[in-house]
Amino acid sequence: MQTHFENKVTETYDRALRRGELYFVKSTIVNVTENDIEFEIRFAPSLAKRPTAEQTDENHMKHKVDPFAPYNQDLFVQEYGNHIVLLNKFCVVPNHLLVVTKEFEEQTDSLNQEDLAALWYCMMQFKNQQIIAFYNCGNHSGSSQPHKHMQVVPLPSDDRFTPPINAIIYKYQNKKPGEIFNFQELPYFHYVTLLDPQQLCGHHGHSHKETVSQYLTENYLALIDAMVEGMRASPLTEGFHPLSYNFLITHTWMMVVPRLSEKYEQISVNSLGFAGMLLVKNEEELDFVKNVGILRILEGVAISKDKDQLIGGVHISV
Ligand code: AMP
Repeated sequence: MQTHFENKVTETYDRALRRGELYFVKSTIVNVTENDIEFEIRFAPSLAKRPTAEQTDENHMKHKVDPFAPYNQDLFVQEYGNHIVLLNKFCVVPNHLLVVTKEFEEQTDSLNQEDLAALWYCMMQFKNQQIIAFYNCGNHSGSSQPHKHMQVVPLPSDDRFTPPINAIIYKYQNKKPGEIFNFQELPYFHYVTLLDPQQLCGHHGHSHKETVSQYLTENYLALIDAMVEGMRASPLTEGFHPLSYNFLITHTWMMVVPRLSEKYEQISVNSLGFAGMLLVKNEEELDFVKNVGILRILEGVAISKDKDQLIGGVHISV
């Protein structure tokens, strides 16, 4: 059984695709295992060949047209409070959603409680698929539009229904919800917390939605504080204020990853990279990623735990 929301999403998706208002970019998955994580490289050769999608994007950028205001009616799913839920016009995964603010807000702004309430609402509507949701915040985070937008990706059935990074998250299930920690397996700074299922389930009376979004906001802000505190001593982040970062959220955990660059050579990385999912456009890029190694690429666009000796004084629990 699909929820009303899931039906609305698939109907809108099918219609927009038929009308040529939405482009599905075909890809094949290549798996590469590093540090027990079976990473997923999506190889989408038609991305390189498809000038229409990219030109449209470039035109938007060049002429500073905001693609989300006014938004394309054919991509509209529904409103939620101060937000609009749209389908991503150029998607690699079907039913990829964008949750955008009705009024223009900056992509460099932090998320607030309304943002997280809208994001969580969308995440909770998918009953048959696991979700990875994220926010690419700031100029070095991999975002391409300056109008505040969060994203929700229902994981398709051609992979294992779960973001690859879950392979290590499962090893840290003894962490207390709310505790901020990081994974020894990863060579770059990141801050993770497990979500408390008790706080997220519906036993909190009439203001349940409010309670949940408040709970999510507190945890998100705690991660941001930990990141800002952790990076304060680092000379590498000088001149990078506000700090760009990727925020990732599933039904069971949240993570933030501070970023210093959008690309490793030609490979652009956004939040999905830190969920273990990379996108490449051609054979050379695929070979490049395999040769360099995925963790090294992620380390290269984030902040290396190794190189950043001045961080030594800051306690990061593992
Ligand atoms: P990001 O690149 O992470 O900032 O996400 C912005 C997303 O918006 C990209 O994935 C684009 O595919 C998508 N996009 C670009 N133009 C439009 C549009 N007119 N309507 C909906 N989505 C769009």
